[in-house]
Amino acid sequence: MKKEFAVIGLGRFGGSICRALSDEGMEVMAIDMDEDKVNEFATVASHAVVGDTTDEAVLKSLGIRNFDHVIVAIGDNIQASILTTLILKELGVKHITVKAQNDYHEKVLSKIGADRIVHPERDMGKRIATNLISNNVLDYLELSDEHSIVEIVANGKLAGNSLIDLDIRARYGINIVAIKRGREVIVSPQATELIEKGDILIVIGGDTDINRFEKKVL
Ligand code: ADP
Repeated sequence: MKKEFAVIGLGRFGGSICRALSDEGMEVMAIDMDEDKVNEFATVASHAVVGDTTDEAVLKSLGIRNFDHVIVAIGDNIQASILTTLILKELGVKHITVKAQNDYHEKVLSKIGADRIVHPERDMGKRIATNLISNNVLDYLELSDEHSIVEIVANGKLAGNSLIDLDIRARYGINIVAIKRGREVIVSPQATELIEKGDILIVIGGDTDINRFEKKVL
């Protein structure tokens, strides 16, 4: 069954979400108060409509509560973003994702019950900074303030050792959940698996433990 999405705010962020969902074959309704933006998305989205979403009557007339997921991507106008989210919540929309502009905005959004709050600029900035600082870290996913999943490239020091030899879990308190080797992905590797130079280790654990592992072994 196709999932139905509505994207409110067709700036850079909302616009790219809209395109990506459409590319995946999803039904997307694109909404913006700016007619030019809406025209731009007329051929991308399943429906593109002009409307000010801080007006409850507008959201009701669009049947917004019938959508599986609504994404609020209103940028600078924090007040409009909060009010829109509040109305969506009151109308009973099940899944609401909102782009936050700053920490204060995020706090209010979580208080009024946004299901998912994203900070694209902040998160992408952090990700790029991490990649710039460490040559071995390819990518990471923050699980909480203190835990992450990180992709680390194995260098010569690790090569030839098995997971048992390295005793990573006991020594560092982290786990290697998968190894990417070229096109192959070894999920939940055996303790006897030998690491090869250039393997990409997918490591899960506490940030400080992962850092310790990186410094010591790489
Ligand atoms: P980004 O930083 O992702 O590029 P922008 O601030 O440029 O975001 O874009 C936000 C979009 O949200 C704009 O196209 C703007 O017209 C739209 N928008 C702002 N307020 C409302 C509102 N009340 N109802 C509908 N759309 C809105």
